[in-house]
Amino acid sequence: MANLDLPGGVAYFLNQLSLLLFAPGSHFSLTSLGCALAIAVAFVAWQRHRHGRRIRPRAILRALFPRRILFSASNFIDLTYLVYHVFLGGLLFGWMVISYQFLTNGIIGALAAAFGPTAHTTLPAFVPRAVITVMLFLAYELGYWLNHYLSHRVPFLWEFHRVHHTATVLTPVTNFRVHPVYTFVFVNILAISTAIANGIGNYMFGETAYQYALSDTNIILVIFIHTYVHLQHTELWIPFSGTLGRVFMSPAHHQVHHSTNPAHFNKNMGSCLALWDWMFGTLYVPSKEPEKLSFGVDPDDQSVHTIAGAYLDPFVRAASLVRGALPKQTPAPPLQDAPKA
Ligand SMILES: [Zn+2]
Ligand SMILES: [Zn+2]
Repeated sequence: MANLDLPGGVAYFLNQLSLLLFAPGSHFSLTSLGCALAIAVAFVAWQRHRHGRRIRPRAILRALFPRRILFSASNFIDLTYLVYHVFLGGLLFGWMVISYQFLTNGIIGALAAAFGPTAHTTLPAFVPRAVITVMLFLAYELGYWLNHYLSHRVPFLWEFHRVHHTATVLTPVTNFRVHPVYTFVFVNILAISTAIANGIGNYMFGETAYQYALSDTNIILVIFIHTYVHLQHTELWIPFSGTLGRVFMSPAHHQVHHSTNPAHFNKNMGSCLALWDWMFGTLYVPSKEPEKLSFGVDPDDQSVHTIAGAYLDPFVRAASLVRGALPKQTPAPPLQDAPKA
């Protein structure tokens, strides 16, 4: 792209777009979207077959892309957030305050001081790499769960996370409907959780051990992105139950997380795994048969689907909360209100 001698802004725009769509570790790669689409088509076709209906391409298409969702105001804001995250996210709130490398070195140093010098393993190289890959993935999931849990339980943080829950329809683009302040807290919590895992791993195996990754994304996470992560933000009821439902966060698990039913509030905070929810008592395993759900914190409030409502209002509401001046009708503590998600 540099060869084309494009103006800096255009080159940056195109580079970000190609990373989004083509980087193998991207959360919105065309390969992962293609896999999600193939699974969705197979699922809808199988459901029609199960109910004795003919498998017609047009009917499948209508089931996957209903006009109700495509042309909703909620979907419009999701798309603006996608554009924001791709082109501005890294420049604004995407940076870390806490240095991952600094923390990793600190953990290694502390372990060395307590238990002696760093070990030098004689194991074949793939063993420590595989162990570190699993450790970093679990640390990512734990960091995700913790940030998400705090975002539901701390009223100030809820005001920013609320944006994600104001979505009234779910599509893979809804995954990007997260306020920059939420992202800011998330990347810092993630820096801590993954640095601890990396520090311990490096101490155990020596500093040459590093994870298996595709374009800097943990390979296990890439596998999940290519299987069911996109389907979590769809309205296809694909549940995992039994033991599987206690370990993995199926699409239905996350749809329950967005539900307006009070029985579902503050449940299923994990990303790919249900494991941490199971351990910390926030798990709701969805039933095999579809549960009738509706989505959105306040489905009648159209202002949440405007630029001002989705980007600026959270600051105003959070500031009012700090001053103790949030209007009376505003649902106050997340324990009762916020958890509409
Ligand atoms: Zn969601
Ligand atoms: Zn949430």
